[in-house]
Amino acid sequence: MPPAITNVYKRPVLLHQGHMQWLFDNEGKRYLDLFGGIVTVSVGHCHPKVNAALKEQVDTMWHTTNLYRHPKLYEYIELLASKFPGDLNVVYLTNSGSEANELAVLLAKAYTGNLDMISLQTSYHGYTSSLMGLTATQSYRMAIPVPTGYHHAVHPDPFRGIFGGCRDSLSQVPGENVVSGDCPSAEKYVHQLNELLGNSVPAGRVGAFFAESIQGAGGVIQFPKGYLRQAQEAIKKCGGLYVADEVQTGFGRTGDHYWGFQTHGVKPDIVTMAKGIGNGFPLAAVVTTKEIAAAHSKAAYFNTFGGNPMASVVGKAVLEVIEEEGLQQNSKVVGDYFIQQLMQLQKQHPVIGDVRGQGLMLGVELVEPGTKKPLNLPQVVDIHENIKDQGVLIARGGRWNNVFRIKPPMCINKQDVDFSIAVMDEALKKYSKK
Ligand code: PMP
Repeated sequence: MPPAITNVYKRPVLLHQGHMQWLFDNEGKRYLDLFGGIVTVSVGHCHPKVNAALKEQVDTMWHTTNLYRHPKLYEYIELLASKFPGDLNVVYLTNSGSEANELAVLLAKAYTGNLDMISLQTSYHGYTSSLMGLTATQSYRMAIPVPTGYHHAVHPDPFRGIFGGCRDSLSQVPGENVVSGDCPSAEKYVHQLNELLGNSVPAGRVGAFFAESIQGAGGVIQFPKGYLRQAQEAIKKCGGLYVADEVQTGFGRTGDHYWGFQTHGVKPDIVTMAKGIGNGFPLAAVVTTKEIAAAHSKAAYFNTFGGNPMASVVGKAVLEVIEEEGLQQNSKVVGDYFIQQLMQLQKQHPVIGDVRGQGLMLGVELVEPGTKKPLNLPQVVDIHENIKDQGVLIARGGRWNNVFRIKPPMCINKQDVDFSIAVMDEALKKYSKK
C-alpha cells in the first residue's frame, strides 16, 4: 500500500457510487454514511441541484485566473457574506481548509503586528508545514520540530479536562448538565489560558486565537459554557484576534445556528470554512471585516484556483439547498433525536463513557466499563470494523482514537438514526459485560 494512502479499515471499503446519505461499494453493497467524508458532504452525495449547477458550468467555463472576474464569483460571495452577522463581509476564496487557515494567520499577523498564535490542545487546523504548529494533535505530527510562535492552551474538555465542565450546547438534553450562567469551570480554563499568555508568549502579545466551535478530529469536544467568550476577552487584552475555524461546524450542522460560534454568543474577527461549503468539491473560504482585510490590501491576494467558476456555482447551490431543504432545522431535529437514542444506548453499554455533541456533530467515547480509561485500540478497531461490515460508515478520532464521530450528510432522517443505533447496539454487545 503506498504510504500516502491512509486506511481507516482493516478490510477497506472500495467505494464506487454515492447518493445522498448512501454510499455503494464496488459490489453494490450499501452503506449509510455517518461520516460524510469527514463532514465534507453536507447536503448529500451527488445532490441533484449541486450536480446540475456543476454540469452546466463545466460546459460553460472552467477557469479564469482570479485576476479576471466572472459573475458566478460575485453571486456566490454575496450570498455567502449574507450568512454572517455584523461586519463580517469580506470573503476570500481558497481551495482547502489548510489554505484558509494559512490566510487567516497571515491576516492576523498583518493586522495586529503580533506574530504568535494560540490554539487548543487536540485541535486540528490543517496539514501544512506551518499549520503543524497550529494543529495540536500529536498523531498528525512527524518527528520534526513544529514552527516557532505557536502555543497550545489547555483544552477545556468537560469529560476529561482537569476542571471538568458543563457543556455549552446540551439544549437537546433537557435538564442535563445545563447551567443558566457560565459554567464555573470555564473561568478556571481561561485562567490556564492567561497563564500561557503571561508566561510563554513573548511580551504577552498575540496575533490570534484559533478555535473550532466544537473540536472535530480531537473527538467532538464541546466547550464549557462561557469559555469561548471569556477566552476571546483574554486574547483581545493581548492584542489578538479570535479566528473561528468553522471547517466542520459551519453551514447549519450544529442545528441551533448556522455557525457553530453563534452557540457561544461570540462574534469572531475571522471565520475560516471548508469541507461542507462545497459538498465535496474543493472549495474553502475566509471571511473577515473590511478593517482587518485592509491590513492585507497593500499586497495582492492571489490564488490560482480560489473562486473558480465551478467552485463558485457549487458553493452557491450548496447554500441554496441548505435553505430550500431546511437542512439546519433537520440537523437540529434529527440530531436531537440521535443524541437521545445514543444516551439510551449508553445505558445498555457501559463501554460508552460519554455521548456528546450538537446537531449532526456527535461523539461517542468508548472506555473501559466503569472507568474513564480509553477502551484499548484493538477493541475500538474491532467495533469500528463491525459497524462498517453491518453497513454504516462512521469516523474515529480523539487523542486515543476511541471516539466515534458522527457527522453525516445533513439530509439523514430518523429511520437512518434507528438503523445506526441498531447496528451500534449489535457491534457493542461483545464489549459490554458489566
Ligand atoms: N480545520 C479543521 C477543523 C479541519 O477538520 C480540517 C480538516 N480535517 C482543516 C481545518 C483542514 O482542512 P483541509 O483538509 O481542507 O486542508
